[in-house]
Amino acid sequence: MKVTVFGIGYVGLVQAAILASVGHDVLCVDVDQSKVDNLKKGIIPIYEPGLTPIVEETTQNGLLNFTTDAAAGVAHGKIQFIAVGTPPDEDGSADLKYVLAVAETIASHMNEPKFIIDKSTVPVGTADKVTAKVAEVLAGRNLSLDFDVVSNPEFLKEGAAVNDCMKPDRIVVGTDSQAARDAMTELYAPFNRNHDRMIFMDVRSAELTKYAANCMLATKISFMNEMSNLAELLGADIEAVRHGIGSDTRIGYQFIYPGCGYGGSCFPKDVQALVRTAHGIEYQPALLEAVESVNAAQKQKLFKNLSHYFKGDLKGKTIALWGLSFKPQTDDMREASSRVLMEALWQAGAKVQAFDPEAMEECQRIYGDSQELALVGTKESALKGADALVICTEWSQFRAPDFDLIASSLTHPVIVDGRNLYDPKLLKDKGFAYYAIGRGESV
Ligand code: NAD
Repeated sequence: MKVTVFGIGYVGLVQAAILASVGHDVLCVDVDQSKVDNLKKGIIPIYEPGLTPIVEETTQNGLLNFTTDAAAGVAHGKIQFIAVGTPPDEDGSADLKYVLAVAETIASHMNEPKFIIDKSTVPVGTADKVTAKVAEVLAGRNLSLDFDVVSNPEFLKEGAAVNDCMKPDRIVVGTDSQAARDAMTELYAPFNRNHDRMIFMDVRSAELTKYAANCMLATKISFMNEMSNLAELLGADIEAVRHGIGSDTRIGYQFIYPGCGYGGSCFPKDVQALVRTAHGIEYQPALLEAVESVNAAQKQKLFKNLSHYFKGDLKGKTIALWGLSFKPQTDDMREASSRVLMEALWQAGAKVQAFDPEAMEECQRIYGDSQELALVGTKESALKGADALVICTEWSQFRAPDFDLIASSLTHPVIVDGRNLYDPKLLKDKGFAYYAIGRGESV
């Protein structure tokens, strides 16, 4: 099938490459000229395991192409995906300007019926706005063309996006049009062979499904973080509690890790956006508001622990930081806990020596050259001359470090671990002050 994808970010690029890999003819459109130029040269703008060979193969066999020419994009696909960003507006609600701009672009150039598929995460009611925008522009062109606006939210996880798109848990499609349903069934048939993964529903339910999924996951994290704070105050070990509750099949072990707060491009903005949606209809989403505020407080935790150890005097200290991305297997630093920590440290007059396996370039792009931040090439070099070590991201290479080397490199034997990677007893025996999450004295 001929498919156009507007927006070549994490979602658009992965989805486009996966669709091309099974034989669909995909044209990607982005307004970012340099991104398009780079992709044409085979330079992939994001780190996503397994993506590069698929993009290389599909561009070489001509099934995946990139352009900034929106008119060519609209002419290409019977199916037009909208996969642009929906960042938070000033009040936290989803900013729809990019989505509506693409809707306008499609309507300005289409000369035959199209299926317009919204893959961006958008508030309930957005399909109606897209429909109205397309109808308005077509009316202005004195054209009467059939089109369907479908909600097809994306559930991929950064770091596992290729596998998630190849073998999705579910493909949610919101539409009341049989023609759109048939087109989506045909498009996704290659990913639907093992068992039926398609879940059809009305458009508004599909739009809400995406927010409900992310809010549920964020709730699990904030719940565990709240339990970890209680564990500290009550002298319990949250890791034992986690094992204890996870064994209940109604709860399960998945996604119940306490830590230094959730980040990324989705959970923070989607929880906030649903809160704003609720406020807009005069509903008080007490649980979601608590999820947000627990998370905001949790992101301060690493700084509080450091400050506790150094008795509030961080001025002139150098802190070694392992992990910048908001989670392992990605270079994405949007809303990462590392950013909250670094900014608090700089505010307090400390310097940071940081290492991350993939996010160094992104960090450099965000913060530029700075006296307060040294980005170093290995986790060991981050320790040199540092006063303390903090772990923000649970990359596998941080899980079994040489503790003797850490002890001999740091001027103070202190590790602040935002991901509970180590055994508190082992570290105590080795002479470290070890601050984990929910595993010891509260500060
Ligand atoms: P992104 O910011 O990585 O990429 C968006 C791209 O859209 C950019 O390359 C930008 O240049 C392009 N763009 C903006 N306006 C455009 C226009 N008018 N025409 C063409 N291109 C345009 O965003 P992302 O992380 O891929 O997220 C896209 C959407 O998918 C968001 O709504 C997000 O919430 C949702 N989502 C993201 C993830 C994730 O893990 N990143 C997962 C599921 C859903």
